[in-house]
Amino acid sequence: MSRYWSSIVKNIEPYVPGEQPKDRKYIKLNTNENPYPPSPRVLEAIRRAAGEDLRLYPDPDCSELRETAAEYYGLNKNQIFVGNGSDEVLAFSFMAFFDPERPILFPDITYSFYPVYAKLFNIGYEIVPLDDQLNIPEEKLYKSRGGVIISNPKAPTGQLLPISSISKIVENNMDSVVIIDEAYIDFGGESAAGLIDSYPNLLVVQTLSKSRSLAGMRIGFALGDSSLIEALGRIKNSFNSYTIDRIALAAANESFRDEEYFRSVSAKIICTRERTASELKDMGFTVLDSKANFLFISHPDVAARDLFELLRDKGILVRYFNKPRIDSFLRITIGNDSDMDYVLETIKNLLQSCRI
Ligand SMILES: *Cc1c(COP(=O)(O)O)cnc(C)c1O
Repeated sequence: MSRYWSSIVKNIEPYVPGEQPKDRKYIKLNTNENPYPPSPRVLEAIRRAAGEDLRLYPDPDCSELRETAAEYYGLNKNQIFVGNGSDEVLAFSFMAFFDPERPILFPDITYSFYPVYAKLFNIGYEIVPLDDQLNIPEEKLYKSRGGVIISNPKAPTGQLLPISSISKIVENNMDSVVIIDEAYIDFGGESAAGLIDSYPNLLVVQTLSKSRSLAGMRIGFALGDSSLIEALGRIKNSFNSYTIDRIALAAANESFRDEEYFRSVSAKIICTRERTASELKDMGFTVLDSKANFLFISHPDVAARDLFELLRDKGILVRYFNKPRIDSFLRITIGNDSDMDYVLETIKNLLQSCRI
Protein backbone atom coordinates (compact mmCIF):
# COMPACT_ATOMS: atom_id res chain seq x y z
CA MET A 1 0.00 0.00 0.00
CA SER A 2 1.31 3.44 -0.89
CA ARG A 3 -0.14 6.89 -0.51
CA TYR A 4 0.29 7.27 -4.26
CA TRP A 5 -2.16 4.50 -5.07
CA SER A 6 -5.57 5.42 -6.50
CA SER A 7 -8.63 4.26 -4.58
CA ILE A 8 -9.20 1.70 -7.37
CA VAL A 9 -5.80 0.11 -6.80
CA LYS A 10 -6.32 0.09 -3.04
CA ASN A 11 -9.62 -1.74 -3.36
CA ILE A 12 -9.06 -4.37 -6.05
CA GLU A 13 -8.13 -8.00 -5.43
CA PRO A 14 -6.07 -9.14 -8.42
CA TYR A 15 -6.38 -12.63 -9.89
CA VAL A 16 -3.53 -14.97 -9.02
CA PRO A 17 -2.55 -17.04 -12.08
CA GLY A 18 -1.32 -20.61 -11.75
CA GLU A 19 2.42 -20.62 -11.18
CA GLN A 20 4.93 -20.80 -14.04
CA PRO A 21 7.88 -22.04 -11.96
CA LYS A 22 11.51 -21.74 -13.03
CA ASP A 23 13.18 -23.70 -10.19
CA ARG A 24 13.18 -27.07 -12.00
CA LYS A 25 11.57 -28.86 -14.90
CA TYR A 26 8.04 -29.95 -14.07
CA ILE A 27 5.40 -31.90 -15.89
CA LYS A 28 3.21 -28.83 -15.97
CA LEU A 29 -0.43 -29.76 -15.47
CA ASN A 30 -1.58 -26.69 -13.51
CA THR A 31 -2.80 -24.09 -16.03
CA ASN A 32 -4.62 -26.14 -18.68
CA GLU A 33 -2.10 -25.47 -21.40
CA ASN A 34 -2.09 -27.81 -24.39
CA PRO A 35 0.69 -30.45 -24.24
CA TYR A 36 1.02 -30.42 -28.03
CA PRO A 37 2.77 -27.64 -29.97
CA PRO A 38 0.85 -25.25 -32.23
CA SER A 39 0.28 -26.48 -35.79
CA PRO A 40 3.47 -26.42 -37.91
CA ARG A 41 1.58 -24.23 -40.38
CA VAL A 42 0.91 -21.71 -37.58
CA LEU A 43 4.59 -21.66 -36.60
CA GLU A 44 5.52 -21.06 -40.23
CA ALA A 45 3.00 -18.18 -40.47
CA ILE A 46 4.54 -16.67 -37.32
CA ARG A 47 8.02 -16.86 -38.85
CA ARG A 48 6.76 -15.17 -42.01
CA ALA A 49 5.09 -12.41 -39.98
CA ALA A 50 8.28 -11.71 -37.99
CA GLY A 51 9.69 -9.43 -40.70
CA GLU A 52 10.13 -5.84 -41.75
CA ASP A 53 6.39 -5.16 -41.67
CA LEU A 54 6.64 -5.07 -37.88
CA ARG A 55 7.54 -1.38 -38.21
CA LEU A 56 3.88 -0.86 -39.24
CA TYR A 57 0.91 -0.91 -36.88
CA PRO A 58 -1.34 -3.95 -37.23
CA ASP A 59 -4.90 -3.72 -38.61
CA PRO A 60 -6.94 -2.31 -35.67
CA ASP A 61 -10.11 -3.96 -37.01
CA CYS A 62 -8.53 -7.42 -37.46
CA SER A 63 -10.51 -7.61 -40.72
CA GLU A 64 -8.89 -10.62 -42.31
CA LEU A 65 -8.91 -12.64 -39.08
CA ARG A 66 -12.55 -11.77 -38.41
CA GLU A 67 -13.47 -12.94 -41.90
CA THR A 68 -11.62 -16.22 -41.42
CA ALA A 69 -13.22 -16.71 -38.01
CA ALA A 70 -16.67 -15.80 -39.36
CA GLU A 71 -16.38 -18.53 -41.94
CA TYR A 72 -15.29 -21.02 -39.29
CA TYR A 73 -18.17 -20.17 -36.93
CA GLY A 74 -20.81 -19.71 -39.66
CA LEU A 75 -21.35 -16.07 -38.66
CA ASN A 76 -20.82 -12.63 -40.19
CA LYS A 77 -17.65 -10.66 -39.67
CA ASN A 78 -19.61 -8.03 -37.72
CA GLN A 79 -20.62 -10.72 -35.20
CA ILE A 80 -16.97 -11.26 -34.21
CA PHE A 81 -14.69 -9.37 -31.84
CA VAL A 82 -11.01 -10.22 -31.36
CA GLY A 83 -9.12 -9.57 -28.12
CA ASN A 84 -5.72 -10.06 -26.55
CA GLY A 85 -6.68 -13.36 -24.94
CA SER A 86 -10.21 -14.09 -23.82
CA ASP A 87 -9.39 -12.59 -20.42
CA GLU A 88 -9.23 -9.22 -22.14
CA VAL A 89 -12.46 -9.96 -24.02
CA LEU A 90 -14.13 -10.80 -20.70
CA ALA A 91 -12.83 -7.63 -19.04
CA PHE A 92 -14.13 -5.50 -21.93
CA SER A 93 -17.46 -7.34 -21.74
CA PHE A 94 -17.88 -6.49 -18.05
CA MET A 95 -17.37 -2.84 -18.98
CA ALA A 96 -19.56 -3.00 -22.08
CA PHE A 97 -22.62 -4.83 -20.72
CA PHE A 98 -22.75 -4.69 -16.93
CA ASP A 99 -23.66 -1.71 -14.73
CA PRO A 100 -22.76 -0.96 -11.12
CA GLU A 101 -26.38 -0.53 -10.02
CA ARG A 102 -27.62 -3.84 -11.50
CA PRO A 103 -26.04 -6.92 -9.87
CA ILE A 104 -25.02 -9.80 -12.11
CA LEU A 105 -25.29 -13.51 -11.36
CA PHE A 106 -22.71 -16.23 -11.62
CA PRO A 107 -22.51 -19.73 -10.15
CA ASP A 108 -20.41 -20.51 -7.11
CA ILE A 109 -17.17 -22.35 -7.96
CA THR A 110 -16.34 -20.71 -11.24
CA TYR A 111 -13.50 -19.00 -13.05
CA SER A 112 -11.98 -16.86 -10.31
CA PHE A 113 -11.46 -13.93 -12.69
CA TYR A 114 -15.22 -13.08 -12.67
CA PRO A 115 -15.30 -11.61 -9.15
CA VAL A 116 -12.01 -9.85 -9.89
CA TYR A 117 -13.52 -8.03 -12.89
CA ALA A 118 -16.69 -7.29 -10.94
CA LYS A 119 -14.66 -5.59 -8.22
CA LEU A 120 -12.45 -3.75 -10.71
CA PHE A 121 -15.49 -2.28 -12.48
CA ASN A 122 -17.50 -1.89 -9.29
CA ILE A 123 -20.26 -4.23 -10.46
CA GLY A 124 -22.37 -5.92 -7.80
CA TYR A 125 -22.80 -9.68 -8.04
CA GLU A 126 -24.74 -12.51 -6.48
CA ILE A 127 -23.22 -15.96 -6.31
CA VAL A 128 -25.65 -18.79 -7.07
CA PRO A 129 -24.90 -21.83 -4.87
CA LEU A 130 -24.39 -25.24 -6.51
CA ASP A 131 -26.09 -28.48 -5.54
CA ASP A 132 -24.28 -31.34 -3.75
CA GLN A 133 -22.89 -32.70 -7.03
CA LEU A 134 -21.49 -29.24 -7.83
CA ASN A 135 -24.12 -28.86 -10.59
CA ILE A 136 -25.62 -25.47 -11.44
CA PRO A 137 -29.32 -25.15 -10.53
CA GLU A 138 -30.04 -23.40 -13.81
CA GLU A 139 -33.40 -21.80 -12.90
CA LYS A 140 -31.54 -19.77 -10.27
CA LEU A 141 -29.79 -18.02 -13.15
CA TYR A 142 -33.10 -16.89 -14.69
CA LYS A 143 -34.23 -13.28 -14.46
CA SER A 144 -31.02 -11.66 -13.36
CA ARG A 145 -31.16 -7.93 -12.87
CA GLY A 146 -27.86 -7.12 -14.53
CA GLY A 147 -26.66 -10.12 -16.55
CA VAL A 148 -25.15 -13.58 -16.19
CA ILE A 149 -21.73 -15.07 -16.79
CA ILE A 150 -20.94 -18.77 -16.80
CA SER A 151 -18.10 -20.83 -18.10
CA ASN A 152 -19.17 -23.89 -20.06
CA PRO A 153 -17.57 -26.41 -19.66
CA LYS A 154 -17.30 -25.18 -16.13
CA ALA A 155 -14.00 -24.10 -14.64
CA PRO A 156 -12.54 -25.67 -12.57
CA THR A 157 -14.77 -28.79 -12.56
CA GLY A 158 -14.99 -29.54 -16.29
CA GLN A 159 -18.74 -30.26 -16.13
CA LEU A 160 -20.80 -29.34 -19.19
CA LEU A 161 -24.22 -27.73 -19.27
CA PRO A 162 -26.20 -28.99 -22.28
CA ILE A 163 -27.06 -26.49 -24.98
CA SER A 164 -30.77 -26.76 -24.03
CA SER A 165 -29.93 -25.37 -20.56
CA ILE A 166 -27.87 -22.57 -22.06
CA SER A 167 -30.69 -21.49 -24.34
CA LYS A 168 -33.15 -21.49 -21.42
CA ILE A 169 -30.82 -19.30 -19.36
CA VAL A 170 -30.44 -16.88 -22.27
CA GLU A 171 -34.19 -16.89 -23.00
CA ASN A 172 -34.97 -16.08 -19.38
CA ASN A 173 -32.65 -13.09 -19.32
CA MET A 174 -33.79 -11.14 -22.38
CA ASP A 175 -33.31 -7.81 -20.57
CA SER A 176 -29.61 -8.33 -20.00
CA VAL A 177 -26.54 -9.94 -21.54
CA VAL A 178 -25.62 -13.56 -20.85
CA ILE A 179 -21.93 -14.35 -21.37
CA ILE A 180 -20.94 -17.96 -22.01
CA ASP A 181 -17.20 -18.42 -21.56
CA GLU A 182 -16.32 -21.39 -23.76
CA ALA A 183 -12.58 -21.65 -23.10
CA TYR A 184 -12.83 -25.48 -23.12
CA ILE A 185 -15.69 -26.08 -25.55
CA ASP A 186 -13.56 -27.89 -28.15
CA PHE A 187 -12.91 -30.82 -25.83
CA GLY A 188 -16.34 -32.39 -26.23
CA GLY A 189 -19.01 -29.71 -25.78
CA GLU A 190 -21.44 -28.08 -28.18
CA SER A 191 -20.88 -24.34 -28.62
CA ALA A 192 -23.66 -21.83 -28.03
CA ALA A 193 -22.39 -19.96 -31.11
CA GLY A 194 -25.23 -21.61 -33.05
CA LEU A 195 -27.76 -19.69 -30.91
CA ILE A 196 -26.39 -16.25 -31.71
CA ASP A 197 -28.78 -15.50 -34.56
CA SER A 198 -31.72 -16.29 -32.23
CA TYR A 199 -30.66 -14.27 -29.18
CA PRO A 200 -29.43 -10.65 -29.35
CA ASN A 201 -28.42 -10.85 -25.65
CA LEU A 202 -26.03 -13.82 -25.99
CA LEU A 203 -22.26 -13.33 -26.03
CA VAL A 204 -20.06 -16.39 -26.55
CA VAL A 205 -16.39 -16.06 -25.61
CA GLN A 206 -13.72 -18.41 -26.95
CA THR A 207 -9.93 -18.58 -26.95
CA LEU A 208 -7.09 -20.05 -28.99
CA SER A 209 -5.15 -20.65 -25.75
CA LYS A 210 -6.34 -24.13 -24.91
CA SER A 211 -7.53 -26.26 -27.83
CA ARG A 212 -5.26 -24.52 -30.36
CA SER A 213 -2.06 -24.55 -28.28
CA LEU A 214 -1.61 -20.77 -28.48
CA ALA A 215 -1.73 -19.62 -24.83
CA GLY A 216 1.54 -17.75 -25.41
CA MET A 217 0.11 -15.80 -28.35
CA ARG A 218 -2.88 -14.25 -26.50
CA ILE A 219 -5.89 -14.42 -28.82
CA GLY A 220 -9.51 -14.57 -27.73
CA PHE A 221 -12.87 -13.97 -29.39
CA ALA A 222 -16.35 -12.78 -28.62
CA LEU A 223 -19.19 -13.94 -30.84
CA GLY A 224 -22.56 -12.23 -30.69
CA ASP A 225 -25.11 -9.88 -32.18
CA SER A 226 -23.45 -7.07 -34.16
CA SER A 227 -24.64 -4.46 -31.65
CA LEU A 228 -22.83 -6.30 -28.82
CA ILE A 229 -19.71 -6.52 -30.99
CA GLU A 230 -19.96 -2.80 -31.70
CA ALA A 231 -20.08 -2.14 -27.94
CA LEU A 232 -16.88 -4.13 -27.42
CA GLY A 233 -15.21 -2.18 -30.22
CA ARG A 234 -16.17 1.07 -28.51
CA ILE A 235 -14.51 -0.08 -25.28
CA LYS A 236 -11.41 -1.36 -27.06
CA ASN A 237 -10.97 1.87 -28.99
CA SER A 238 -11.23 3.85 -25.77
CA PHE A 239 -8.38 1.83 -24.37
CA ASN A 240 -5.92 0.56 -27.00
CA SER A 241 -6.67 0.32 -30.73
CA TYR A 242 -3.95 -2.25 -31.38
CA THR A 243 -4.56 -5.06 -28.92
CA ILE A 244 -3.64 -7.76 -31.46
CA ASP A 245 -0.15 -7.57 -32.93
CA ARG A 246 0.82 -8.60 -36.46
CA ILE A 247 2.32 -11.90 -35.35
CA ALA A 248 -0.76 -12.89 -33.37
CA LEU A 249 -3.00 -11.99 -36.32
CA ALA A 250 -0.99 -14.23 -38.64
CA ALA A 251 -0.95 -17.09 -36.13
CA ALA A 252 -4.69 -16.92 -35.46
CA ASN A 253 -5.57 -16.79 -39.14
CA GLU A 254 -3.51 -19.84 -39.96
CA SER A 255 -4.83 -21.71 -36.93
CA PHE A 256 -8.40 -21.48 -38.26
CA ARG A 257 -7.20 -22.59 -41.68
CA ASP A 258 -5.45 -25.69 -40.34
CA GLU A 259 -8.60 -27.38 -39.14
CA GLU A 260 -7.20 -30.87 -39.46
CA TYR A 261 -4.31 -30.39 -37.02
CA PHE A 262 -6.60 -28.84 -34.42
CA ARG A 263 -9.12 -31.69 -34.75
CA SER A 264 -6.47 -34.35 -34.31
CA VAL A 265 -4.90 -32.67 -31.25
CA SER A 266 -8.30 -32.22 -29.56
CA ALA A 267 -9.20 -35.85 -30.28
CA LYS A 268 -5.94 -37.06 -28.74
CA ILE A 269 -6.52 -35.03 -25.58
CA ILE A 270 -10.10 -36.31 -25.23
CA CYS A 271 -8.86 -39.87 -25.61
CA THR A 272 -6.12 -39.39 -22.98
CA ARG A 273 -8.64 -37.70 -20.65
CA GLU A 274 -11.03 -40.64 -20.79
CA ARG A 275 -8.28 -43.17 -20.16
CA THR A 276 -6.84 -41.14 -17.27
CA ALA A 277 -10.30 -40.69 -15.72
CA SER A 278 -11.01 -44.38 -15.78
CA GLU A 279 -7.63 -45.32 -14.27
CA LEU A 280 -8.08 -42.74 -11.51
CA LYS A 281 -11.53 -44.13 -10.72
CA ASP A 282 -9.97 -47.59 -10.44
CA MET A 283 -7.65 -46.14 -7.78
CA GLY A 284 -10.64 -44.94 -5.75
CA PHE A 285 -10.78 -41.33 -6.91
CA THR A 286 -13.98 -39.40 -7.39
CA VAL A 287 -13.59 -37.97 -10.90
CA LEU A 288 -16.16 -35.42 -12.02
CA ASP A 289 -17.43 -35.94 -15.55
CA SER A 290 -15.25 -33.59 -17.60
CA LYS A 291 -15.68 -32.22 -21.09
CA ALA A 292 -12.56 -30.05 -20.72
CA ASN A 293 -8.80 -30.68 -20.98
CA PHE A 294 -8.54 -31.29 -17.25
CA LEU A 295 -9.98 -33.51 -14.52
CA PHE A 296 -11.27 -32.46 -11.12
CA ILE A 297 -10.53 -35.26 -8.69
CA SER A 298 -10.73 -36.12 -5.03
CA HIS A 299 -9.65 -39.16 -2.99
CA PRO A 300 -11.16 -40.33 0.32
CA ASP A 301 -7.80 -41.39 1.82
CA VAL A 302 -5.48 -38.50 0.93
CA ALA A 303 -5.99 -34.80 1.54
CA ALA A 304 -5.82 -32.87 -1.73
CA ARG A 305 -3.24 -30.47 -0.36
CA ASP A 306 -0.97 -33.38 0.70
CA LEU A 307 -1.28 -35.01 -2.69
CA PHE A 308 -0.56 -31.67 -4.36
CA GLU A 309 2.68 -31.36 -2.39
CA LEU A 310 3.71 -34.98 -2.85
CA LEU A 311 3.23 -34.65 -6.61
CA ARG A 312 5.18 -31.42 -6.65
CA ASP A 313 8.10 -33.17 -4.98
CA LYS A 314 7.96 -35.72 -7.81
CA GLY A 315 8.10 -32.99 -10.43
CA ILE A 316 4.39 -32.90 -11.27
CA LEU A 317 2.62 -29.59 -10.94
CA VAL A 318 -1.19 -29.59 -10.61
CA ARG A 319 -3.67 -27.03 -9.24
CA TYR A 320 -4.97 -27.00 -5.69
CA PHE A 321 -7.63 -24.45 -4.69
CA ASN A 322 -7.57 -23.53 -1.02
CA LYS A 323 -11.26 -22.59 -1.07
CA PRO A 324 -14.31 -23.85 0.77
CA ARG A 325 -16.18 -26.74 -0.94
CA ILE A 326 -13.39 -27.50 -3.41
CA ASP A 327 -10.39 -27.86 -1.10
CA SER A 328 -10.71 -31.64 -1.23
CA PHE A 329 -10.12 -31.60 -5.00
CA LEU A 330 -7.16 -31.28 -7.34
CA ARG A 331 -7.41 -30.05 -10.91
CA ILE A 332 -5.11 -31.94 -13.25
CA THR A 333 -4.58 -30.75 -16.81
CA ILE A 334 -4.48 -33.53 -19.40
CA GLY A 335 -0.93 -33.84 -20.73
CA ASN A 336 0.31 -36.18 -23.44
CA ASP A 337 0.12 -39.94 -22.94
CA SER A 338 3.58 -40.36 -21.48
CA ASP A 339 3.04 -37.46 -19.02
CA MET A 340 -0.18 -39.08 -17.87
CA ASP A 341 1.42 -42.52 -17.56
CA TYR A 342 4.02 -41.02 -15.23
CA VAL A 343 1.32 -39.17 -13.26
CA LEU A 344 -0.81 -42.28 -12.86
CA GLU A 345 2.13 -44.40 -11.80
CA THR A 346 3.32 -41.75 -9.33
CA ILE A 347 -0.16 -41.41 -7.80
CA LYS A 348 -0.49 -45.18 -7.51
CA ASN A 349 2.81 -45.37 -5.62
CA LEU A 350 1.94 -42.44 -3.37
CA LEU A 351 -1.42 -43.99 -2.46
CA GLN A 352 0.30 -47.23 -1.58
CA SER A 353 2.84 -45.55 0.67
CA CYS A 354 0.09 -43.44 2.33
CA ARG A 355 -1.80 -46.61 3.28
CA ILE A 356 1.18 -48.20 5.08
C1 LIG B 1 -8.01 -20.11 -19.64
C2 LIG B 1 -9.34 -19.46 -19.44
C3 LIG B 1 -9.60 -18.20 -19.95
C4 LIG B 1 -8.53 -17.29 -20.47
O1 LIG B 1 -8.01 -17.62 -21.63
P1 LIG B 1 -7.03 -16.62 -22.42
O2 LIG B 1 -7.67 -16.59 -23.75
O3 LIG B 1 -5.73 -17.31 -22.38
O4 LIG B 1 -7.03 -15.28 -21.74
C5 LIG B 1 -10.88 -17.69 -19.83
N1 LIG B 1 -11.85 -18.37 -19.20
C6 LIG B 1 -11.63 -19.57 -18.66
C7 LIG B 1 -12.72 -20.28 -17.97
C8 LIG B 1 -10.36 -20.14 -18.75
O5 LIG B 1 -10.12 -21.31 -18.16
